[in-house]
Amino acid sequence: MVAENLEQVRKNIEEACRKVNRDPKEVTLIAVSKTKPVELLREAYQAGARCFGENKVQEIMDKYPRLPSDIQWHMIGHLQRNKVKYIVDKVKMIHSVDSLRLAETIEQEALKHQVRVPVLLEVNVAQEESKFGLKMEEVLPLVEKVSAFPHIHIQGLMTIAPYVENPEENRGIFRQLKKLSVDIAAKNINNVTMSVLSMGMTGDYEVAVQEGATMVRVGTGIFGKRDYLR
Ligand SMILES: *Cc1c(COP(=O)(O)O)cnc(C)c1O
Repeated sequence: MVAENLEQVRKNIEEACRKVNRDPKEVTLIAVSKTKPVELLREAYQAGARCFGENKVQEIMDKYPRLPSDIQWHMIGHLQRNKVKYIVDKVKMIHSVDSLRLAETIEQEALKHQVRVPVLLEVNVAQEESKFGLKMEEVLPLVEKVSAFPHIHIQGLMTIAPYVENPEENRGIFRQLKKLSVDIAAKNINNVTMSVLSMGMTGDYEVAVQEGATMVRVGTGIFGKRDYLR
């Protein structure tokens, strides 16, 4: 089932790209495997998935040693500062940087491990009370501060759009994030690139791709519904 789902999601991404004349190679599919057992991740791996997204440090720690080493792990969930040390040298990218204090901790731990960590700043474009992330106007000031950190490389922006019935409702959100990234890129800040836009989930990734997403994070659409009681 996982292999078929993956194939379908890939096709949908290609189709969304075709509609707006984008090269599908510009879009990385992150298989969001949170709460799912390693057997299912292996199925996805066998079907060609190499990028996996997790939202808990403990879960990355558990799965990391049990799966092939060419997997790229993406930390997409809220990250507590006291847990940064466990994953800083294991993850390909941290999508959820939303404060200077967190960035400072990542810098310290990256220095200790002698790595340079690719990060995205998480933006709460829709200003939902329940969600983490920076306000739009807080992003540039934080980019400027974190650009001075030698062991962090800001590569772009991430957002979690609201849950909506009709994905078209989120098109404006994706557009706003894209515009913000273009505006920041135009400032040519040293040590900062705006090449990654992580946006779009199972319900709305096709719209996100049409609006410029370079990473989509799809969980349910690949692995099926999550059962949080397990
Ligand atoms: C769970 C999660 C996803 C995937 O959600 P689906 O709707 O299952 O595709 C994407 N991004 C983040 C940050 C998540 O926590």
